Amino acid sequence: MRLGIDLGGTKIEIVALDESGREVGRRRVATPQNDYAATLRVVTELVRGMESELGRVGTVGIGTPGAISRATGLLKNSNSVCLNGQPILDDLERLLERTIRMENDANCFALSEAVDGAAEGAGVVFGVIIGTGTGAGIVVNGQALTGPNAIAGEWGHNPLPWPQPGELPGGACYCGKSGCIETWLSGPGMARRHQERTGQALDAPGIVARAAQGDMECEKSMSEYEDRLARSLAHVINILDPDVIVLGGGMSNIDRLYANVPRHWGRYVFSDRVDTRLVKNRHGDSSGVRGAAWLWD
Ligand SMILES: [Zn+2]
Repeated sequence: MRLGIDLGGTKIEIVALDESGREVGRRRVATPQNDYAATLRVVTELVRGMESELGRVGTVGIGTPGAISRATGLLKNSNSVCLNGQPILDDLERLLERTIRMENDANCFALSEAVDGAAEGAGVVFGVIIGTGTGAGIVVNGQALTGPNAIAGEWGHNPLPWPQPGELPGGACYCGKSGCIETWLSGPGMARRHQERTGQALDAPGIVARAAQGDMECEKSMSEYEDRLARSLAHVINILDPDVIVLGGGMSNIDRLYANVPRHWGRYVFSDRVDTRLVKNRHGDSSGVRGAAWLWD
């Protein structure tokens, strides 16, 4: 049995998969806020509870924002800041008395979709989560790529490529730089750009809905967004040349992206044709927790 845990900022979820990958148990609880010790306790109780309920022991994989530093063994880059700088992997291994695998949540998303999701069977998969932030992970032949700095796929804090007039320097990003891809492609980023250009305060779903009703300003924001996403992904295609790019997160529900973005990216990719597939995730919000379970394959 494989147990996967999605350790997020607002909720902690556990899933149990049997040998065939079928889901046999799931539970979700709120994440204790600003309390490291309580977070350890909740994760331990979820694992122990699931194992006693199902009457068997499982492997444990955990997906979380941020990454375990290979140099120090401490968590870094998490938006649950109370976890940063903590030896969370060591502590959970001690509490649960077993070896645990822990990966960035975007890597887990990409892994889930590569194993039995929208990119099933593909050799190289770039999995992108675009919601309130922008993250990504890379899976090669069924294995999540981590890298010596544990940041493989972290493309959201690269600058928006092929900048056009009016796009420089771009908005300030929490990482300390300006004009990061995340500041353009996240849902709040789309809303901010629309407001700067039109004065209209609409969130991303509102812009999408009005564009569908024929609102010309919202349509312009949508096509600008599609071109920026195409440029950002063209950069990835030029470096990684993935077989499949899978979109996740709230923005992945914008159906028109899957037809329109590939229409734009041919102008930026260094190739006479682009056969990369751009697809919507299959497992939705469950991809993080399922990918964590698949860390043991
Ligand atoms: Zn940034």
